[in-house]
Amino acid sequence: MSADQDVILPGATLGVLGGGQLGRMFVQEAQAMGYFTAVLDADPTSPAGLVSHHHIRTGYEDAQGLAEMARLCAAVTTEFENVPAAALDLLAQTRRVSPAGSAVAIAQDRAAEKAHFVRCGVPVAPHALIESPEQMAAVPADLLPGILKTARMGYDGKGQARVSTPAERAAAWQDLGGVPCVLEKMLPLAQECSVIVARGRDGAMVHLPVQRNLHRGGILAVTEVYEQNLPPALAAQALAAAKSVADGLHYVGVLCVEFFVLQDGSLVVNEIAPRPHNSGHYSQDACDVSQFELQLRCMTGLPLTQPRLHSPTIMLNLLGDLWFAQGDAPVTPAWEQVLALPGCHLRLYGKRDAKRGRKMGHLNVTGATPEAVRAVALQAAAILG
Ligand code: ADP
Ligand code: MG
Repeated sequence: MSADQDVILPGATLGVLGGGQLGRMFVQEAQAMGYFTAVLDADPTSPAGLVSHHHIRTGYEDAQGLAEMARLCAAVTTEFENVPAAALDLLAQTRRVSPAGSAVAIAQDRAAEKAHFVRCGVPVAPHALIESPEQMAAVPADLLPGILKTARMGYDGKGQARVSTPAERAAAWQDLGGVPCVLEKMLPLAQECSVIVARGRDGAMVHLPVQRNLHRGGILAVTEVYEQNLPPALAAQALAAAKSVADGLHYVGVLCVEFFVLQDGSLVVNEIAPRPHNSGHYSQDACDVSQFELQLRCMTGLPLTQPRLHSPTIMLNLLGDLWFAQGDAPVTPAWEQVLALPGCHLRLYGKRDAKRGRKMGHLNVTGATPEAVRAVALQAAAILG
C-alpha cells in the first residue's frame, strides 16, 4: 500500500483551517472517535478553537502558522471555502490535504463554478460574467430582472443585489465596488434543495438524502428531510448532478451542491460548498453517519459507508435575532421550554455575542413521522418567537 493510501487511525492529530461552527462540529466529531485536533484561526474565541486540543492563532497565509499545522497534523481539511487555495497547496506538499486547493479555488469563484457546471453538463441559470463597463453594456436584456452577485466572497446573500433595469444594474455594480460579478437571471423558484456527497480518495461516493431548504433574506432558515420530501425523480436527478460535479473535480471530501427547483419542475444547479454545509446539520441527529463523520472518513482514508436516515427531521437555524425578540437588550432564548418538547436536539456554537443575522446554533427536531416533526418544530418556533 502506498503512503497515500494509508489509513490515518484514531490517536493521530487532524487539522482544520478555519475556526467557525463547521470546524467546531468537525473537531467534536473527530474527538469523539479518538483523534486529536488542531484548528488554525486568528480569532482567540473562534468556536472551533475553543474546543480543539491545539489552536494555532494565525492568519491563513502565515508561514509559521502553516508550518505548525503541518508539524502537528497527519491530515488537514477546511471548513471555510475562502481559505486561500495557496495555503492548501503549501500544506499539500508535506501533508494529506482534502479537498484539494484546485477544487476549493473553483468553489471560491462563481464564474469558475458556473463554468465547471457547464463542463459537467448540469443545467445552470442563464448568466453573464461582468468584469468591465464594456461587458456590463453588452449584457443581454433578457437577463433582467436578475441578481448581480460578486464572483468572490459572497455568503448568506451578502454581496448580492436584485436589479430590474439597466440603470439599476449599473448602480448596483458600483455599490458592489465594481469587482468581478456574475449577473444571473432571476428564476421562478418553486423550492430549493441541496445534496451532500462524500467522495473518497478512490473515487467511491456516498451521499446524504436530498435536503429541502427554505431561505429567509438569503440565509438558510429551515431544512426538512424525510422519505419523499421531494418527488423521487427530481431527487434522483439532483443526486446524479451532484455526483457528476464531484467527479468532475476529482473531489476528495464532503461537497454540498445547492439547487433551485423551478416552477416548471426543472432543476438548476446554484452553487457548491467544498465542506460540510448548514443544510446537512440534521445528519447529526437523524442519520447514522453525520456529514462531519463523512468529512473525517474522507480525510483519513477510512471506509465510507452509505448514511441511513433513521428519522424524519427538521433543522431550524438559530440566528442571533432570537436573542433580540424582546427588544434591544439581548435575552437568552427559553431553551428549557424548547427542550421540554419531544425530539429536540439543541446545538449551540459557543459564540459569545449574539448579533442579528449571525448563526448562533441550530435545533434538530426528530420524530416518528414528518407530521409529528413539523408540529414540534412549529411549537419550538413559537416559543423562540
Ligand atoms: P449565497 O452564496 O449567499 O448562499 P446564493 O447564490 O445561494 O448565495 O443566493 C442566496 C439565495 O438567493 C438563494 O438560496 C435563493 O433563495 C436566492 N437566489 C439566488 N439566485 C437566484 C436566482 N437566480 N433566482 C432566484 N432566486 C435566487
Ligand atoms: Mg447559497
